[in-house]
Amino acid sequence: MNTLVVCSHCEKMNRVPLDKAVTAQPICASCKTKLPLHDGVQEVSDGGLAKLIRNADRPLVVDFWAEWCGPCKAFAPTFVATAKQLGQQFIFAKLNTEQCPAAAQAHQIRSIPTLIVFKNGVEVNRQSGAMPQAMFMQYLAQWKA
Ligand SMILES: [Zn+2]
Repeated sequence: MNTLVVCSHCEKMNRVPLDKAVTAQPICASCKTKLPLHDGVQEVSDGGLAKLIRNADRPLVVDFWAEWCGPCKAFAPTFVATAKQLGQQFIFAKLNTEQCPAAAQAHQIRSIPTLIVFKNGVEVNRQSGAMPQAMFMQYLAQWKA
């Protein structure tokens, strides 16, 4: 089983085996830059997010966060742990709202963390605020493909 990762350098979509997404440091098939993967979760930028939304072959869940946000940082391990369990059903991505204000504005992010679920190229739901892993898994179960 693969996941889809957008290269942060050339924005090409890469197919990466799920186990390698967690354990290795895969490189982009096109430009050979290291893919922006950390513990199986990819960090996307403005353009990368738009591309991932359009091309995701399964529901996509994006964590909009920032470095200064305590609850965001507290939620990060939950997001990673959930990504490891549900990588076959969802694509997990994070967007740093300070580094990518255009994407944050385009998606009208008013508070962080905000989690948005995209399906077939459109937003189907969003949730503001962190949640415990059991609740997060339950929340995502509604949006499985
Ligand atoms: Zn690349």
